[in-house]
Amino acid sequence: MQRQGSTRQASGYNQPRSKAGNGPRRKGTPLILALLLVVGWAISFADVTAVDAEAFSKKIGASFHWFPVQKSFIMVADKDTAKFAIGLPFAYVNGESLDLSASPVLEDGHLWIAEYDANRIFQKAKPASSSSTAASSSAVKNTTAQAAKSSASNKTTAPKNETAGTREVKTIVIDPGHGGKDSGALGKNSQEKDIVLSIGKLVKKALEKEGFNVKMTRDKDVFIELGQRANLANQWDGDLFISLHCNAIDATPERKKQIRGYHVYVLRAPESEEDKAIARRENKVATLYGEKNAKEELSPIEWFKLEARLEKYKQNSYMFTEEMLKALDGGKIKRQAGGVGGAGFMVLVGALMPAVLFEIGFISNLEDEAYMMSKDGQADIAARIAKAVSTYKEAVHSYRETLGR
Ligand SMILES: [Zn+2]
Repeated sequence: MQRQGSTRQASGYNQPRSKAGNGPRRKGTPLILALLLVVGWAISFADVTAVDAEAFSKKIGASFHWFPVQKSFIMVADKDTAKFAIGLPFAYVNGESLDLSASPVLEDGHLWIAEYDANRIFQKAKPASSSSTAASSSAVKNTTAQAAKSSASNKTTAPKNETAGTREVKTIVIDPGHGGKDSGALGKNSQEKDIVLSIGKLVKKALEKEGFNVKMTRDKDVFIELGQRANLANQWDGDLFISLHCNAIDATPERKKQIRGYHVYVLRAPESEEDKAIARRENKVATLYGEKNAKEELSPIEWFKLEARLEKYKQNSYMFTEEMLKALDGGKIKRQAGGVGGAGFMVLVGALMPAVLFEIGFISNLEDEAYMMSKDGQADIAARIAKAVSTYKEAVHSYRETLGR
């Protein structure tokens, strides 16, 4: 099987199998170990065909994530999850240890694994065998054969179309919540849809000054369905999706006075009733206006299906959340207890990029409301969001540098 642009002969890729002895102590009878060492000797002389793990993931529709600190990476396909680490001759596939025909290496800014391993893990090309020795023997034959076949096109090409989160940050999608017939939460003197639109426009202006390409799901008072917002963001191929909202609580005046502050939300299974309630409120518009596939909560099975896709953007969504917390620190509107939450926000479900939902403050609290309505308040909040985007861009850039890109 020839892989254009993602296959190559990695010089120095061959890892003597005896290196396995340096790894953690693992189960196995002495006989099997001895056989593995013999086989390993053969492998160290064979030419192993390597594939770029990230490009391979993309090709099979799996998500890919690199953890620079742990020097490990994960590939999540529909049915199989595999964890690899640089220099370790085994991987964890669906929680079980699996011997690799060669250890993954980091070279030229790319993570390389043996094509044979990639195929047998993700395409079930694993040869039928009655013992691990037989499987390993096939590995030698197979990789040597692969090497012979691909030696004609010995080239390295960086994967094109890097996904949002791993590539440089350029396009920011600002999503002012609600609009038109959907006013969002109501304050004493304001409506959520107006506040988030004003602040969204200011964020756009600030980011454009910094050289970002900025798109808005709405730049006027119009109604847009929740699902359509993510669709737009995907069409624009955004690198980051920021949905702007105002929080609200339906309670006694005394309680409204107490409950205030901002909150940054990512898409994940909710961990508290409060988070669930906020998602239900923000999702209500879809059921209220008869949006297709509208629902206020995701079922456990829907969460399960969503998880593999989320894995791809989760780390970056949290990275941006961290930058938001730093930028908002010291502002007039304080962080609400915890400051970070997760729930099933429908507006984030379809976005194929790192995404957060920012509840700027409580419109039901008079002080928060006044600040969010004021010219100075809006300018300050917008500047802080823009600052968070800039530092996030730098963080992603540094992350890429750990890969030598
Ligand atoms: Zn809202």
